Amino acid sequence: MKKYDVIVCGAGTSGMNAAIAARRNGARTLIVEASGLLGGTNVISLVSPFMTFHDGNRQVIKGIADEIISRLKEQKLALGHIKDPIDFASSITPYDVEGLKQIYFDIVEEEGIECLFHSFIYDVIMEDDKLVGIEVVNKSGKMQLFADVIIDATGDGDVCALAGAEFIMGRSKDNKSQPMTMLFTMGNVNFDEIKEYMKNNRNDFVLADDYDFGYLGVSGFFSKVKEAMEKNEFDLPRDRVLFFEDIHNNQVTINMTRVLNLSAVDAWDLSKAEMEGRQQIKKAVKFLKDYIPGFKDSYVVRTPNAIGKRESRHIIGDYILTEEDLHEKREFADSIALGAFPIDIHSPDGKSILEHRTSANNAYEVPYRILLPKGIENLLVTGRCVSSTHEANASLRVGPSVMALGQASGTAAALAVKHKVTPRDLDITLLQSTLRSQGQVIKKNG
Ligand SMILES: Cc1cc2nc3c(=O)[nH]c(=O)nc-3n(C[C@H](O)[C@H](O)[C@H](O)COP(=O)(O)OP(=O)(O)OC[C@H]3O[C@@H](n4cnc5c(N)ncnc54)[C@H](O)[C@@H]3O)c2cc1C
Repeated sequence: MKKYDVIVCGAGTSGMNAAIAARRNGARTLIVEASGLLGGTNVISLVSPFMTFHDGNRQVIKGIADEIISRLKEQKLALGHIKDPIDFASSITPYDVEGLKQIYFDIVEEEGIECLFHSFIYDVIMEDDKLVGIEVVNKSGKMQLFADVIIDATGDGDVCALAGAEFIMGRSKDNKSQPMTMLFTMGNVNFDEIKEYMKNNRNDFVLADDYDFGYLGVSGFFSKVKEAMEKNEFDLPRDRVLFFEDIHNNQVTINMTRVLNLSAVDAWDLSKAEMEGRQQIKKAVKFLKDYIPGFKDSYVVRTPNAIGKRESRHIIGDYILTEEDLHEKREFADSIALGAFPIDIHSPDGKSILEHRTSANNAYEVPYRILLPKGIENLLVTGRCVSSTHEANASLRVGPSVMALGQASGTAAALAVKHKVTPRDLDITLLQSTLRSQGQVIKKNG
């Protein structure tokens, strides 16, 4: 029987930070991951840049998340935190996907975190309302793994759902989730041609007023999309071209495909989404080459290992974070992290992006209780599936925020093990002082 202090289920950016934090706080830690990679959506599905570490000029996500960016930057694998060309977030952080992948592998070796790859969690072991273990299936067959505290970082809340936790899917009116998107990278793109067109057609783009045509970020070409649609030469459910420059020359990662009305936690739907995503990439590439300046001689450099999921289950916790909490910037006595990304809803059934733009001074506090699945002991949830409504989640789901949630959940798990209490009974002031001493920003004021 294999028993650990902490098992982190899923090695996305949130699970990685959870595992690092748990290990650094003294827990014997195992990561269980379905793929053979570390980094989840940010590696497997090519999502970049990170958005956002800042609220105006104030850096509100620090700790392990920022340490990873510094390491990437030192190795010239990230540009650091820079101004958002499309003026949506306070900052963006472009990085090299291969670099992030490698750094995570370096870190697990340095920190002494055990990893079990190619292992899918398909069941849980309960003692009454207490989660004591997980069951995985892999090339060795079926395995049982036990831990004092288990962290669900699967993005979809698989472990919580298996343990019988309540959850909501998507938005409240019809349970539809934000679409899935298959990103892809194009090389040999002529940036000069794109910038020239942008300078001459500013109104065709969402752009920062003071954009200096340096780092390239594009949300627009609205007229080109419209023209191609009117000629029946483009039919993706998208109103714009959206992409950011990769940190390597003449390469951009395109966020244009949109697979609607399928559930990311239904195996048949997910399979359809993978098929549909590939067809949409073909159409998007043809459209870019035919209509968009700078793409005539471009080519597909890479496509992801899996379609990107923006939203699926929201696990119901001891508290549910809402849009009002964000707008009113409610303070929480049990705050363990800050978020500062605006609400950004890619329409679950249309072409648009519903943006709740915000200016500086918009950081909001994140209560610990959203990491505690209601009614279940010894289980923490982190990442995009934490207890939040569709709207609040449309802010909280981004990379830097889920990394901060990861650090909080991993620290809480290790402290709970050390002090022989359940995560629910953990002294919140101890958790907060530990997080602060390890670099995490947890309060709006101070
Ligand atoms: C198309 C798209 C564009 C985005 N754009 C941005 C952006 O520009 N900037 C930004 O900051 N954020 C962006 N995001 C949001 C952000 O990337 C994700 O919300 C975030 O990466 C989620 O991290 P996570 O760790 O919670 O989950 P994931 O990254 O999904 O990690 C979950 C991990 O768990 C594993 N797993 C799942 N189920 C099981 C199981 N049953 N057993 C074992 N392992 C399992 C998975 O393989 C995966 O490695 C975007 C997301 C998408 C989909």
